[in-house]
Amino acid sequence: MEQQHSQESLLSQIEELRFQLDEAHETIDAIRTGQVDALIVKDGSGHQLYTLKTADQTYRVFIEKMSEGAVTINKQGIILYCNTRFAIMADTPLEHTIGQPLVSFVPEKSKAQLEHIIKDSWTNECRAEIILKDGGGKDMQCLFSCNTIELDNGIALSIIITDLTLLKNTESALQARNAELFEAHAATEKLNNSLEDTVRQRTHDLVISREHFKLLTNNIDQMTWTNLPTGEFISYNQRWFDYTGLTADDEHEINWEMLVHPDDLAPTLEKYTHSLATGEMFEIENRYKRHDGVYRWHLNRAKPLLNDAGDIIFWVGTATNIEEQRKEMERKDEFIGIASHELKTPLTSLKGYLQLIAGYKKEELPPVVKQYITKALGSINKLQSLINDLLDVSKIKAGRLQYAITDVDITDMVSQCIENARHINPGYTFNLSLQPGFIVQGNQERLEQVLMNLLNNAVKYSPHNKEIEVAAVQQNDKVRVAVTDHGIGLSSDQKSKVFERFYRVEDRHNMTSGLGMGLYISQEIIRNHNGAIGVESEPGVGSTFYFVLPLV
Ligand code: ADP
Repeated sequence: MEQQHSQESLLSQIEELRFQLDEAHETIDAIRTGQVDALIVKDGSGHQLYTLKTADQTYRVFIEKMSEGAVTINKQGIILYCNTRFAIMADTPLEHTIGQPLVSFVPEKSKAQLEHIIKDSWTNECRAEIILKDGGGKDMQCLFSCNTIELDNGIALSIIITDLTLLKNTESALQARNAELFEAHAATEKLNNSLEDTVRQRTHDLVISREHFKLLTNNIDQMTWTNLPTGEFISYNQRWFDYTGLTADDEHEINWEMLVHPDDLAPTLEKYTHSLATGEMFEIENRYKRHDGVYRWHLNRAKPLLNDAGDIIFWVGTATNIEEQRKEMERKDEFIGIASHELKTPLTSLKGYLQLIAGYKKEELPPVVKQYITKALGSINKLQSLINDLLDVSKIKAGRLQYAITDVDITDMVSQCIENARHINPGYTFNLSLQPGFIVQGNQERLEQVLMNLLNNAVKYSPHNKEIEVAAVQQNDKVRVAVTDHGIGLSSDQKSKVFERFYRVEDRHNMTSGLGMGLYISQEIIRNHNGAIGVESEPGVGSTFYFVLPLV
């Protein structure tokens, strides 16, 4: 019974103690957070009243809310007070921190350093980075800032502990970033240097190439110029200034058109505008006025310089003095005119005598002689046609290519020429596509000469595929006669030149003979008939030469 009584009293004592403990906790909390200014403590000598100074109260709240740990230790290094933040940092319940030596919260390796700092701090303010071990045993880099403070019962050391983990992490991240930046900077600098080198090299190359260009253009025999895609002039070379008598100061006011001979200006401008619009090469012969007012023949050529995208950056042009060549050409034409004229008369007599011998009736000629006469007549015919061509060229040059004009039935004329061509070229097939009734005004003989020239060329320049198509079709109020072969064809450069006097495509295959007069004469004849002549051709595929004449 007594035993039961003492157990009950023990239980109630425990209950009482627990209640007191809770009360004590609350009181401590209230003190910490500054909720109370005074408290009564009951001890052996009765109730004691402890008041707390108002300033203390402010600091208590402040210290409790700090994000740093705050610790006060006595001379023996024992913690007299710490805030909640320190307990959290040390991962130790608050009640197990107070009364503990501070060194017990640092790892073994940092103990000596802490003791050293604490020792110094009693005389000087000290700061040091020291590792704090948290309850989990992990190290935490912290900054310990120590100051002495006066307490009622003597001097104590107040230590503010700042967790440097975030700072350290940021610092190392910053360091890593810095290292990256440094690397990037070094790489950029390297690139920059190499770019600078490249630019320097390119500038150097550019200067050299510009100087080369200048040196070259100023020392060649031709006048040169450059202009913008719009046609405005950029520069002229020294020879240009020497020739025209103008100076570099006049350069921007110069109107080059004023230097072109009035008779040559219209065709020059036409070609020039065409080239600017199409980007096609500019080429024309014209006369430029020299500084002394004398005109001299020049061959003008200009080509566009393109960028990678194919756009024209500028044009580079040259003008070559061809006065001497022109004179030579004139002398040659004169010589050809005289020579062919002089050859024609004895050749005609020779042919006449041969015909007389062939027709000799008094006695029968031996067959072999007859054979020789036929061959000699064949050669004379060839020679005669050559001389006739030469005479035609001279006449054209002198503007004396004249002939009688009548109505010509083109359909009949084409049929006759084809028959003729079939007779001369039995190995070739001539396919005809003809509509009847095409009448033009012209000279039958001359038009036949043109068509025969086209047919002969078609045969000459298609040694393998021996099919030739001939067509005469109406085009509005005109008739178009075309001869198509499937022979060697022409490049676009060759196409632009085949109608020039004495032009012959370089005969690499040594296929043919000829002097390059046929198409030139044909062009003149067709022009004189108010018609047009042209060619469509592909190398290796074949050509279509055609002429167009106005119908009656
Ligand atoms: P030629 O007497 O030299 O044939 P032409 O004035 O008739 O003179 O022709 C000029 C040049 O044009 C020729 O040398 C030849 O290279 C080229 N040509 C003419 N017709 C053809 C064709 N049908 N196919 C290919 N090239 C041709």
